[in-house]
Amino acid sequence: KSNRRFHEEDTVITLQNGTKIGGGNFQVMAGPCSIESEEQIIGIAQSVKAAGASILRGGAFKPRTSPYSFQGLQEEGLELLLKAKEKTGLPIVTEIMDSAHIPLFEEVDIIQVGARNMQNFELLKKLGQLRKPVLLKRGLANTLQELLMSAEYIMAGGNEQVILCERGIRTIETYTRNTLDISAIPVLHRLSHLPVIADPSHATGDAKLVRPMALAAVMAGVDGLLIEVHNDPSHALCDGAQSLTPEAFASMMGKIQAVRPFA
Ligand code: PEP
Ligand code: MN
Repeated sequence: KSNRRFHEEDTVITLQNGTKIGGGNFQVMAGPCSIESEEQIIGIAQSVKAAGASILRGGAFKPRTSPYSFQGLQEEGLELLLKAKEKTGLPIVTEIMDSAHIPLFEEVDIIQVGARNMQNFELLKKLGQLRKPVLLKRGLANTLQELLMSAEYIMAGGNEQVILCERGIRTIETYTRNTLDISAIPVLHRLSHLPVIADPSHATGDAKLVRPMALAAVMAGVDGLLIEVHNDPSHALCDGAQSLTPEAFASMMGKIQAVRPFA
């Protein structure tokens, strides 16, 4: 059960390399929206690790709004992400779109369910059969209760390792890509024992807004952050406008470390 009533203590998720998420631990997941090449993912992995990230993110199967947009390198992308994991020792998180791909995710440390699939109940049920951490992102127009019920779909199958992610929701405001619901963070902590992270990159869609929103999320008590970082944002194949350069990421990490020291 995701409800705090059934589980007073915070859930702590321990990855294979010992990295802990939740219960007072703070982790930063960083990397490109999409894996584009071996040099790109390994280079970014090394720079985010040097700046203090403890988990590498990178999309291989991409849920793009247009079918004509870059769809990700798919299987090849996963292989490159695994190479980056091997090279840097960083655990990895990447999105799944189709349960038929589950066998490809064997070596993936955290399987991400994107906002668009938050209510893909058949996918959630299949992930519930695994014994592997799942990062569940809030849907574009879903309430917190709906997010928790989706977590429940995974947990009902016996997989209790769910991380909740606030990544912005659609509101009347169009200046930003989405609106980061800061209050979701303390509310989810009140209602649930599951770890809660925030994704200021997808919430804002604007690299200049990532740092202030990341700091706001930290002050609101998140257990971690998901940040998009690209070596050359203006040429990124996906989400360049919201991607931080490795330098901007390192600078942001310095600010976070000052207010919220982490390992
Ligand atoms: C992503 O993390 O790259 C992504 C597609 O996020 P979301 O599902 O939150 O839009
Ligand atoms: Mn993205």
